[in-house]
Order: sequence, then C-alpha cells, then structure tokens
Amino acid sequence: MALDTRKAPLHASWGENPAALQKLFMIVGSLSIAVILLASTWGFKTVFTGHVVRMAEADAVAVCELMLDFVHDAILKGENSNRSVAVSPGDIDRLDREIANFVDHLHVIKVKIFDHDHRIVYSTDKAIIGKVDAENPRLRRALYGSIDTELKEKKITDLKEEKGFTQKVVETYVPIRNEVGMVVGSFEIYLLIDRYDRALRRALVLTTLIMAVVLLGTFAVSHLLIGQSVRQVREAHTLLHRTAITDSLTGVANHGYLVSRGAEEFDRARRGYAVGGDKGLGCVLLDLDRFKQVNDTYGHLIGDQVLREFTRRIQTILRPYDLLGRYGGEEFVVLLPEASTAETCSIAERMLETVRREPFLTDAGELTITASGGTATSRDSDRSLEELLKRADDNLYQAKRDGRDRVCCAPDGCPT
Ligand code: GH3
Ligand code: MG
Ligand code: MG
Repeated sequence: MALDTRKAPLHASWGENPAALQKLFMIVGSLSIAVILLASTWGFKTVFTGHVVRMAEADAVAVCELMLDFVHDAILKGENSNRSVAVSPGDIDRLDREIANFVDHLHVIKVKIFDHDHRIVYSTDKAIIGKVDAENPRLRRALYGSIDTELKEKKITDLKEEKGFTQKVVETYVPIRNEVGMVVGSFEIYLLIDRYDRALRRALVLTTLIMAVVLLGTFAVSHLLIGQSVRQVREAHTLLHRTAITDSLTGVANHGYLVSRGAEEFDRARRGYAVGGDKGLGCVLLDLDRFKQVNDTYGHLIGDQVLREFTRRIQTILRPYDLLGRYGGEEFVVLLPEASTAETCSIAERMLETVRREPFLTDAGELTITASGGTATSRDSDRSLEELLKRADDNLYQAKRDGRDRVCCAPDGCPT
C-alpha cells in the first residue's frame, strides 16, 4: 500500500463533518428561501389587495356621487322622495342614456339602484327591475348608511358589446341620500379593477423579485464563504492527518500508522485464510548496514540524506498497495498484502539490489550503501502482527550475523 492520506476518519456527526454541514446549510437555506418567498408573496398580495379594494371603494363612492348629480332629478322626485328613491317607467330610457355615458369612461360594468324597501328601481340589466332583494345584508347595511365593498370575480356582460367574460370587480353598495342627508336608497355598482390588478401584479412581481434577488444573493455569498471555509478545514484536516501518519524525515508511514495499518492488513490476511486463500501478508524488515559509521564519518545531515534516498529507492520497487514505513531509526518495514513467502523474498532481494546497485549521491560525495533484510509471511497460526514482525526481525538479525547485505527468507529461521 502506498501511503493513503484519503483514509481520513469519516466523522458521523454533522458538527464534525464540514461537507455534510455545508450540504445541510444548502437544504435548510433553499427551503427557507422558498418559505420566505411564499410567505412574503402571500403577505404582499394580502396587503396590496386590501389597498386595491380601498382605492376601488373610494372610486366607487366618487362615481356614485357623480352619477347622483346626473340622475338626481330622475330618481328623487314625487311626494315620496323624502323617504325613498323611485323611478317612473318613462325615466328608464333617460337613466340608461345618462348611465351609459358613465360606463364609457369610468370602468363601471353594472349599475343598480335600490329604493328604501330593497326593490330594484333601476338596473342596467332590465330583466331584474322591480325585484326585491330583501335578504341582502350588505344592501341592508347600505340602507343604514354604510358603504360596503367586496372584491369578486364576476361573469360580466359588457354593457355595450353584450359579451360575457370573467373579470375582477369590486361590488360596492353606496347609500343615496336626499338633500337633508337621509338615506333614501342605494347604488350597487360593479367597478372593473383590471387596471389596479395590473398594477398590483406588477408590484407583486417586483417586490417578489427584489426579495428573491436579495435572499439569493445573501444565500450565494454565505454559500461561497462557507464553501471556502469548508475547503480550508478540509485542507487543514488532510494536512493534519498526513502529518499524523507520516515520518517527517523520509515522508513514508511513521511507526504508529505502520502498526495500525499493519494490524488491519494482518486481519484481512487472516480472513483470507478463513475462506481458503493461500496467500498471506508478506513482511520485510530492512536495516541499513553500518549506518552509525555513515553518521560518524560524514555527519547526521549526510546520514539523513542517505535515509531519504534509501526510502526513495525502496518505493520504486513497491506495488501501489504495498506499504513502506519507518519502524525506527534506520530500520524500515515493508508490508506486502497478498504475497507468498517466495514473492516476499524475491521483492526483498530486489530492494537490496536497488540499494547496492549504484552509490548514493550525497553532499559528501558518492557513498556505497547496503542494507540487510529479514522476511516473514503471515500464517494461519499467527495470532498477531507482532508474531510476524518477530519472525522477520529474527531473520534480519540472522542476515546481519551472516555478513550483511543479504536477505534471510527462511520461514522457520535461516540456519546459523
Ligand atoms: P548494523 O549494520 O548492525 O545495523 O549497524 P548500524 O551502525 O547500522 O546499527 P546501529 O544500531 O549501531 O546504529 C544505527 C544508527 O542509526 C545510530 C543512529 O544514530 C542512526 N540513526 C537513527 N536515526 C537516525 C536519523 O534519523 N538520522 C540519522 N542521520 N541517523 C539516525
Ligand atoms: Mg543498521
Ligand atoms: Mg538498526
């Protein structure tokens, strides 16, 4: 195995995992924006609609007052006029003409005039003249002197073209008062509010757009900042993890990581035996020969250069999934997953060959360096990684005893 810094511990909780936290922020942020936009659009619509109804009501009152000026003579005459409006059949055509002029300019769709007894004395719809709307509470309120307005969607027949269409209208009851201020009847008019509606829609779209832009902008900036922090935390975490598992001089795995990954690989090899596998975990222990002399002769800095070059050369022999680690001082361990005894031995031989083949280039000049090795391969009977390391260590010392610059590979110890 090469040193795998991606094997950083995966944290389960959101608080410890910045990427998951960022994802959570994205979800919560998007949902919040959607909820805020929906709620604010609904709120704006409610406020704007109320405003439109109030504006339309004021318009309806003004229109009725204007209309009253024109139709006053026709509806407030006769001996009963101090109690109730009335329209004689002969005046209907005149009222039609007057009101039709109104309709042309003031967005009025329909007009009814009620007398004090809830009877329709005039309507732009002739068929209902004479009918009594006794149960209409809004009309009753108007006849008590209150203006009553309601926003409605109505299927309306255009007064001039007689076409039916659905329109947003406000239906307003406006009391009709005589000269002394007594309520003598009521107008009911339908006022088209499409022009307000268009303005309302524009205002609604504009405010929602502004809200959306502000919210999305804030969200995007926060997202960028959080993303940046997450990247920094991740980089710091990777660096920290790498530092924690790496030997600072040579860049290979340090003792702690070597032992923990070694234990994992050892367990994996044991599971392999359990399902009938015949290959184990190969282990090569390497020790530089007479290294103390290098230090003593050329100094520690040159010794360090030798150690770095040594690990560089060993790494050229390794497969991607092998692991080289510094066991301590000038002693190194190579773990070879899925390796037989013979393969482990042959790889160890190649390692020593690559060390001895060419002199090491240092600041003190070219130095001839050799190393010795002891190998062992895990067995079904091994209980721990230490047993494997112990056999490799025994073989290493046998190789030293046998004259150095050699490997001792015998599974049960080289003959002394
Ligand atoms: P042998 O062939 O029996 O292994 O002899 P040796 O001299 O290599 O073994 P010994 O154990 O006597 O000496 C190992 C030396 O490695 C001693 C120590 O100063 C040196 N050493 C350990 N770590 C480092 C290091 O990080 N840098 C340097 N420059 N030297 C180190
Ligand atoms: Mg040594
Ligand atoms: Mg040593």
